[in-house]
Amino acid sequence: MSAGRLRNRVALITGAGSGIGLESSILFAQEGANVLLVDVNLEAAERTAKIVNQKHPNVRALAVKADVGIEAEIQAAVDTAKKEFGRLDIMFNNAGIMHPADDNALNTEEKIWDLTMRINLKGVWWGCKYAILAMRENPNDETRGLHTGGSIINTASFVASVGAATPQLAYTASKGAVLAMTRELAMIHAREGIRLNTVSPGPLKTPLLMDFLNTAEKRDRRLVHLPMGRFGEAVEIAKAALFLASDESSYMTGTDLKVDGGLTSAY
Ligand code: NAD
Repeated sequence: MSAGRLRNRVALITGAGSGIGLESSILFAQEGANVLLVDVNLEAAERTAKIVNQKHPNVRALAVKADVGIEAEIQAAVDTAKKEFGRLDIMFNNAGIMHPADDNALNTEEKIWDLTMRINLKGVWWGCKYAILAMRENPNDETRGLHTGGSIINTASFVASVGAATPQLAYTASKGAVLAMTRELAMIHAREGIRLNTVSPGPLKTPLLMDFLNTAEKRDRRLVHLPMGRFGEAVEIAKAALFLASDESSYMTGTDLKVDGGLTSAY
């Protein structure tokens, strides 16, 4: 694929301080996008901005603090993208949490369930809502051949499609809902040229999962189910998100792109 695939585009990436968000920030900037880096951990987002600005001085990376589980904060982040960069073309609703608590139907506390849903599901809903409103304001750019009003990518997970024996019920339910919600939003907004897709990572070597599978035994048990026999790298998901963000996926909406080392095809 050629470089400059996101030239003159503006992208907002949530969870930009670590893992998939960090790698996507670097990759999107490399392809020419100005990037607004959103994280609840401002220091982490600023670290990412520093890396991006050093590597790619031809674009701008700006870090802002926002908790995606608070509607006003995600709205303010989208407003900042419009104010600082003039428009919004790409929204990557990627931030998510996996609570370390014993999370099965019998033990899950309601407050953990609610927290997980607020960040992983409502956060994505609000991210889509304010991105769609912003993308509707984008002038129709005839130079782009296949006009797209914008591309929204939501991070789901392999657990949205298959059952995992490690109890993480609230997390799994939230990701299944992200998948269903994205599909429906894709149908509603298809005729406006706003595309919505999910990327579903398999188990990755990022803090989110490594903190959860916190012993060698737990990690080995997960590896048994992985056809490729290894955990994925965050950058491998970022590459898929870049494809969905760019016009190279211009005829794709409502799709779930699985990047999971073969996990969801395995028996
Ligand atoms: P990570 O822990 O490396 O990074 C997550 C980032 O999100 C952190 O910088 C964190 O500060 C930020 N964040 C957390 N809560 C937030 C909030 N309320 N508002 C704003 N930012 C917040 O995790 P990752 O592995 O890169 O995960 C990114 C996404 O990928 C998540 O949605 C996760 O559920 C999903 N995912 C991860 C895996 C995996 O194995 N790591 C597998 C499937 C799906």
